[in-house]
Amino acid sequence: MKGSINVKTENIFPIIKKFLYSDHEIFLREIVANAVDATQKLKTLASLGQFKGELGDVTIDIKIDKKKKTLSVIDRGIGMSAEEVDKYINQIAFSGAEEFVEKFKGKSELEQNQLIGHFGLGFYSSFMVSKEVEFKTKSFNDTPAMRWWCDGNTEYTLEETKKADRGTEIIMHIDDENKDFLEEYKILEILKKYCKFMPVPIRFGEEEVWEDSDEKDEKGEPKRVQVKKDRIINNTEPLWKKKPADLTEEDYKAFYRELYPMNFDDPLFHIHLNVDYPFNLTGVLYFPKIQKNIDPTRDKIQLYCNQVFVTDSVEGVVPDYMMLLRGVLDSPDIPLNVSRSYLQSDSNVKKISSHITKKVADKLEEIFKNQREEYDKKWDDLKVFIQYGMLSDEKFYTRAEKIFLFKNISNEFFSMEDYKNKIKANQTDKENKLVYLYANDVDSQYTYIQAAKDKGYDVLLMDGMLDNHFINLMEQKLTDSRFVRIDSDVIDKLIQKDEVIPSKLSEKEIEELKTLIEGQIEDKKRFSVVMESMNETDSPLVITQNEFMRRMKEMSAMGGGSMASFYGELPDTYNIVVNTNHPLMSEVLNEKDDNKKTEVISQLKDLALLSQGLLKGEALNNFITRSISIIK
Ligand code: ADP
Repeated sequence: MKGSINVKTENIFPIIKKFLYSDHEIFLREIVANAVDATQKLKTLASLGQFKGELGDVTIDIKIDKKKKTLSVIDRGIGMSAEEVDKYINQIAFSGAEEFVEKFKGKSELEQNQLIGHFGLGFYSSFMVSKEVEFKTKSFNDTPAMRWWCDGNTEYTLEETKKADRGTEIIMHIDDENKDFLEEYKILEILKKYCKFMPVPIRFGEEEVWEDSDEKDEKGEPKRVQVKKDRIINNTEPLWKKKPADLTEEDYKAFYRELYPMNFDDPLFHIHLNVDYPFNLTGVLYFPKIQKNIDPTRDKIQLYCNQVFVTDSVEGVVPDYMMLLRGVLDSPDIPLNVSRSYLQSDSNVKKISSHITKKVADKLEEIFKNQREEYDKKWDDLKVFIQYGMLSDEKFYTRAEKIFLFKNISNEFFSMEDYKNKIKANQTDKENKLVYLYANDVDSQYTYIQAAKDKGYDVLLMDGMLDNHFINLMEQKLTDSRFVRIDSDVIDKLIQKDEVIPSKLSEKEIEELKTLIEGQIEDKKRFSVVMESMNETDSPLVITQNEFMRRMKEMSAMGGGSMASFYGELPDTYNIVVNTNHPLMSEVLNEKDDNKKTEVISQLKDLALLSQGLLKGEALNNFITRSISIIK
């Protein structure tokens, strides 16, 4: 029998070929997924007693014939009768296509691309790579076997044929532009990508494996030999489909390696998802170790639909910060062939997204409560994820607020609440603000940290990649609190208390001293002199960098805001804070010898600069020469 594929509009095949999916390789997923479906349907019928025959081996075969230039997919599923071919292939498949062609007319390329993928043409996607497609099929009902073929026009042929075995064999005659799909490595790569966890075994050629033989070696161990075996490309029972109670920690780690063979770190912990109401979702999410450099393009979360790989671009399905996680999500309820903007507004997707957020927060809370020591140990790797979540999702913030940890420079961990209580008594300034002191580089900020420690203050370590943003967030959230970097002023100014340290010098003397010191500073744009009466034992001269100016510059370096870019143009500016109560200051003022005076001032100033790595070039050379002459 000959017939015309039920399509009233112009020939759709050129459109399929050119546009249907930007990734041509998808055709194989569609064809293999159909074979899997057909097999699963037969299994279901068997379990319901509606199929009484032998199921037998239902392995799906993928075969390449290079001579005939064909790629075949062979299943032993339910097959189709003549009526079914007519109904499912000839009629139904194209009702979607017609709509597609209608919408396609007169659209821009961009709009066309958005339309593409809106219509899952399943079986017909084989025409993207074939000049002719044929299949032989025999229903489990024992109706006559049928052969269908079509050369990419709207004409098809359907006739009775001989076929011994139940099921369907699809034979794709690959066209010349797509002869890549006749290469074993290429097909293997596609199968590994899309079919790795499909629920029916899929065989593709053979592979060499090492096995124990009956013979023994010198040590009496079985000799290892290489043997050829069928290559089954999929794991039909992936871990996420199993019950958590039946799984060990090692199983989860092994599955992580199966998902990401190129990754050598173990995950920190996992979350096994299993929801069946009001939507269907299974999966396993892993927390990877996130260190300084994250590469979000590698090892991403993989999205599956009933064990068929769909994509690893999960934007829109999970919140952005969740993309730092890894693992698998499997849901038949996510609309898969639609555009991103549609995805984001889909109510199932929204529910799934908030479910995942909740589960992740639950898990973190559970570890925080029950395994606090473990939690502290993992904190450095968790921190970026949690900060990113708190910064970008208000809901997550309210959950994570209880489990966020501050780490101080002595490697002690505190919850936000505990830390507040720890510093409340000592680090409240005269305006009743709680002052959080932080360092971002313990080595170069050593002197400042020491000064804070001498006062009994605690210093946080904030050296993470999101810490700058996080500090801004903390200042918004924690009312009556300030965050100041330890080198942004002298410690008594950072946390100003009520008591004022009286100055030993008169105002006139201070003025005189200031002029003297300013006289020794060449770069007046970058350095300003500030006079402070501090304790005698505090440093005579300290270099500080204003917190506000520094933050603005940092923001502009990250490309934020117009004010920020204005500050970005400015040079780094510093204060030279002079401790007027230091004994050396009165000595300088009392010194009769002018040369000696400038020598001491220059020496003090250079030492302060040197401690901050700010003494360079000629100035450094002068300092060394001067120092040697003082020793002599
Ligand atoms: P979809 O799979 O989305 O329904 P397809 O165009 O891929 O669309 O397939 C249309 C129908 O053809 C299927 O629903 C199924 O009934 C039938 N079909 C396709 N492939 C097979 C197969 N290998 N065995 C049995 N039936 C098949």
